[in-house]
Amino acid sequence: MKFGIDIGHNAPPDSGAVGLAKEDELTRAVGKRVIAQLTALGHSVIDCTPSWATSVLDSLRKRVNAANASRVDIFVSIHFNAFNGRANGTEIFATSSAASRLARPVLERIVALGYYSRGVKNGSHLYVLTNTYMPAILIECCFLDSARDMDLFNTELMAKAIVAGLAGEVPDGDGGERPRPGPDDKMLELQQALNRLQIGDRDGNPLTVDGLFGTKTSAALEHFHAIVGISAPGQPTAATWKALADIFERPTLRPQHATGQAVRYVQSRLGAGVDGVFGAMTAAAVERFQVKQHIAVDGIVGGQTWNRLLL
Ligand SMILES: [Zn+2]
Repeated sequence: MKFGIDIGHNAPPDSGAVGLAKEDELTRAVGKRVIAQLTALGHSVIDCTPSWATSVLDSLRKRVNAANASRVDIFVSIHFNAFNGRANGTEIFATSSAASRLARPVLERIVALGYYSRGVKNGSHLYVLTNTYMPAILIECCFLDSARDMDLFNTELMAKAIVAGLAGEVPDGDGGERPRPGPDDKMLELQQALNRLQIGDRDGNPLTVDGLFGTKTSAALEHFHAIVGISAPGQPTAATWKALADIFERPTLRPQHATGQAVRYVQSRLGAGVDGVFGAMTAAAVERFQVKQHIAVDGIVGGQTWNRLLL
């Protein structure tokens, strides 16, 4: 796959927003890592960012020309949002259905880090999206004038989420600078998994993915254990990882056939009695959920239903 990566702004007079941090610096840090990681995965990557421009329009034109002339398969522009200090979260702009399909997994990966999902939006007002010939997306990673987002923000995790969303994998090494030591990888994985399951802290908020086993992560883990029927106090155990793997395998669950921890998770999410046996009551709850989600109503938990249950 040939990616065109566009690091937003960084070409005066095209410079980015300034809030609690500078957009130029954030897009550069994340963009460089995204380029390094995609390259490490064996993809060819064109850096579409110009080093200079005579005007903002010239800057945008140079980005588009780089992508079109190199015939990249996918164009990705990286930006950070700014508004009123209160708005927060992640949004991705796309102008075609092909681009929307690319945008969705990227959004899901970023949101799993704890950012609010503002959705995939129509980007027909964005020059770099309407003038590139290939599917193109513009990622507003989060808000640089939001204290919530900036507390959560970590360059390495943001880059990894983008790469995982685009390529379906991340390199074993980092393909870039080493992350700061400190957070425990297993804890990061646990926090991301609980966020994907939409099991948050006691107030129902997503966990901050910081690799630290604090009271919020501990409460969410306790909740998960209760759902899947694991009686282990405190830290995650082998049984925890096994249950998570079983759920993320997204098995097809049919009435009168399925039992076990994936069933217990679905029952809990849908407000059905949690007994781990997929009977008529659970099937009815699945159907109600499918109706609400406007997807095929068959009472079976298949790919479409899993897509709506997991982030
Ligand atoms: Zn921008």
